[in-house]
Formats: sequence, C-alpha cells, structure tokens
Amino acid sequence: SQLPADALETNVPRQVYEACFSFVDPIKPSKPSLMHASFEVAAEIGLSKEDLLSDDFLNVFSGNTIYSGTKPFAMCYAGHQFGNWAGQLGDGRAINLTEVLNNDKFLTLQLKGAGPTPYSRTADGFAVLRSSIREYLCAEAMFHIGVPTTRSLSLMLSGDQVLRDVLYNGNPAYEKGAIVSRVAPTFIRFGSFEIFASRKDVVNLKLLTDFTIKNHFPNIKEDGVPKYLRFFEQVTQATLKMIVEWQRVGFVHGVMNTDNMSIHGITIDYGPYGWLEDYDSGWTPNTTDKQHKRYRFGNQPEIALWNLYQLANALYPLIEDAKALEAILEAYTSNYEKEYLSMMQDKLGLQNKLDDDLFLVNRLTELLEKAETDMTIFFRNLSNIAKQDSAVLAFDKIKDAFYNEKDLNEVILKEWYDWFEIYSFRINEQNSTDLERKEKMNLVNPKYVLRNYISQLCIDDAEKGDYSLLNELFEILKNPYDEQPDFQRWFAKRPDWARNKVGSSMLSCSS
Ligand code: AMP
Ligand code: MG
Ligand code: MG
Repeated sequence: SQLPADALETNVPRQVYEACFSFVDPIKPSKPSLMHASFEVAAEIGLSKEDLLSDDFLNVFSGNTIYSGTKPFAMCYAGHQFGNWAGQLGDGRAINLTEVLNNDKFLTLQLKGAGPTPYSRTADGFAVLRSSIREYLCAEAMFHIGVPTTRSLSLMLSGDQVLRDVLYNGNPAYEKGAIVSRVAPTFIRFGSFEIFASRKDVVNLKLLTDFTIKNHFPNIKEDGVPKYLRFFEQVTQATLKMIVEWQRVGFVHGVMNTDNMSIHGITIDYGPYGWLEDYDSGWTPNTTDKQHKRYRFGNQPEIALWNLYQLANALYPLIEDAKALEAILEAYTSNYEKEYLSMMQDKLGLQNKLDDDLFLVNRLTELLEKAETDMTIFFRNLSNIAKQDSAVLAFDKIKDAFYNEKDLNEVILKEWYDWFEIYSFRINEQNSTDLERKEKMNLVNPKYVLRNYISQLCIDDAEKGDYSLLNELFEILKNPYDEQPDFQRWFAKRPDWARNKVGSSMLSCSS
C-alpha cells in the first residue's frame, strides 16, 4: 500500500509485500531456436502443428516478444526447504505469460529460464540445456504414464551462454541456455499461501485462497470456514493420489520442498529427480540430500504429509479450527495405506483384493531390497508368470531383473521361492486367465521409463546438436505400457558405467 507506483514492475531482487506476483518481461534471447514442441499440448491450448512452426510461436515461447494484450508475471511464494523455513522464494526463473481458457478450464502458460525476476535472489534467472531437457521430457513421460503433472509445450535454445559451475581448475563453465514452456492449471504452490501466513497478511491470504477456490476448485460450494476446509481436504486428497502414483512407477522427486508442491496435486519442478532402477526405498537422486536423504523414495508419503501440515498452518488464520484440520491430516495416513495397498495389488495382478495381501506386498519390497533388483523390469516380467508355474519356474521368469546374479545366495533364493509359493496361491484363487491378468498388469507396470542414464545419453547428444534421441524418447515415452519391440533396447537394466555416475553424483537442486 505504501509502495511506489511502479514497484511491481521494477525488476530488482527484493522482498515483495502484499502481492501474489510482480509484472516482469522475459529477456530477449540472442538467437532462439526450437528444439522440440509437443503437438498434444499445443492442441490443449488451441494451437495447431503449423502454429508450432511459426515465427510467432518461436518468438512468444522463447520470450522474444510479448503476445499482444498479455502481461507476463512472476509469482511470489515462500517455502520450507529441507524442513527449514526459507522465507520468500518466488519464481526466480519462471515467468507466467498468460492464461488460456480450454473447455471451461484455465491453463497457465509459463516460461522457465527466460531471465531474472524480483525473486531471482542471487541467481541469474536462466536455465541450462541439460536441466531443461530433463524437465521437458520427464513431465511428458509422467503424463503418459498416468501421473498428475505439469505439461511441456516447447523446448527452445536461447542462443545465449549461461554460466553454471566453476570448474576445479578455476575456469568458468558456460553451458547452452534453454527455455522450457510449461502448462498447468496454475503454478500456485503450498508456499504461495505460506508467504502470506508468515507475514500475518490475512487479507491477501484470503484473497488468494478465494481466488484459487473460485477459479480452480469450482465443485466447492460451501462458504466461510467449511469452504476453506473443503479446499484443504481436496488438496490433501489430490496430493495423496499423486504420491501413490509416484510410488507405483518409482519416481523420486528429489526436492519436495513446500515451494515445489502444487496446490493441484500435480508433479511440478523437475530438478534433481530420478527413477528407481534398483528398488531401494532409501534412494534419492539429489546430491544435496545424500546425507539425510530426507526426500528418499520411501519417505515421499511422509514428506507429503509434513508439507500438508505446513499448508494447514498457512490456512489456519482462515479456519481457526485445529481439530478439523487435524482430522483431515490424520485421514491422510489411513487413506494412504489403503490406496498404497490397492495400487500394489494392481501391480501384482491381484483383482480379488484381500487385506492379508499387505503381508505379500511388504515381504516383496523387503526381498526387492535384499539384492539389487530393477523395479521396472521386475514388475513388467511378473506378468509373464502363469498359474501353473512352479516357484522355481516363476522365479526364472523375473530373473533378468537382478543386477548381480551372484547376490542370489541360497538363503535369498529360498526366500524368493517362498514368496512365489504364496503369490502362486493367490493368483490361482482368481477367475481371470493368465492372459487377462497379464493384460491388466501391463496397464499399471510400465515397460519404458525415463531412466536416469537414458536422459543423460539424450543430453550428451543434444549438447552436440543431435536431437534424434530426444525425438525418439519423446515418442517412446508416449506409450510406456506398449511393448514397442523396436525399442526393446531401452527395456534394459542400467548399464554398469552409469551405476554411480548419473543420478547420484551429478544432480543437485538448481541448474
Ligand atoms: P528449486 O529448488 O529449483 O525449486 O528452486 C528454489 C528457488 O530458487 C525457486 O525460488 C527458484 O525460482 C529459484 N531458482 C532456482 N534456480 C534459479 C536460477 N537459475 N535463477 C533464479 N532463481 C532460481
Ligand atoms: Mg521450485
Ligand atoms: Mg539395495
């Protein structure tokens, strides 16, 4: 209220008070070029294939020109990072271009890596090619695998060099700058509410919450406190659903800070994420989290709940009913257990679901961790087992999933055979045929996922100007559940050279 008239348009890093966003224009790239664009996502916002190849598209989605009648903006939010309050963060390298209306639903178009904003803090507002490829590809892979996510519209090179790490010899390391345009209902995060609560700015907290509900949660018909409770409940449920899906496909987000939690329960901000190769609940791809492993695979459900507690605290001034909020949070845990079991039963092809299957599931995940076992290959091949197979034959059918056959000593083998005895008993209790079960299982156990080393190969090629693997992966990952025999080579364990390199020594938060 006491800000100078042009304060919201002044693009210098600062604390921004009493505002959800600041107007900011993208930086014009030196020589923008289109690397890839998604026809499907373009169609969602009413653009044709021809539009994607137009100069207008190149200019608008590289930040070179501002589409007439729009006013780009960066959003203000805060967050808890690695469990600690971090204060104001905001869109440091993301700029929202505009919203479009599609079948009565709003979609926001956003550029990532198009230059600094008032929220850039000490960083440059740009993004490099490698992290942009990772975000661009993974969001679409997640969508097609059935996980709620932001979508990727386009990937551009800016033609500018971006300074990232300083090498050990003291020389600066420049990398190719890139810009991803991404699409989501909104990019509002848990941290968007936390910022106002932390500043005791209830006026703007209420404005943002009312705006969000009115435009994006139209099925909430209540007023007053019940309205806000319904909202929190729906965010909780959507978040839970997203986490169950992450666990189903072996996705590890890597930075589940509250500023990276979408209010829509969609996966957002693909940074140091990774896909489980060997099944390991203790694994995180994020090098900055190697010590505490706060965001490890097995901890994601807990962390989502922790983050929901922070959102509950942020919404509290509008609700002032701790018991009601706690009831929703407590339901998360029991609902999660139910949903998780049901999801795992689906992965195992158990259609007549029994509570006792929890034993089978827990025993399985224990065994998967005992010897390095490829999660994707294990579950995909599990569908090849027939009702009549002996435990030994069944085991033989999933044996490819083990990284080292030497790990399979007699004790472990015996444990696996015991597990397959129970599994065989369970599938024999069902009416479905082997083929029917296989077909169902193959709809929830993907064959192709964006393995960490595969994105690295794609990045290495793209850095040299060869986008053929990028194009190929984009197409394969559109149909992750299909056999696609021509691409069988990507249905393979991580090669030895990639064991400790990719996803364990290279990925940190911001690049
Ligand atoms: P992240 O861990 O990538 O979610 O980023 C945390 C915060 O740092 C967010 O506020 C980002 O906008 C900001 N940030 C990350 N990278 C950059 C960058 N290159 N320039 C400006 N801000 C950044
Ligand atoms: Mg982020
Ligand atoms: Mg292990």
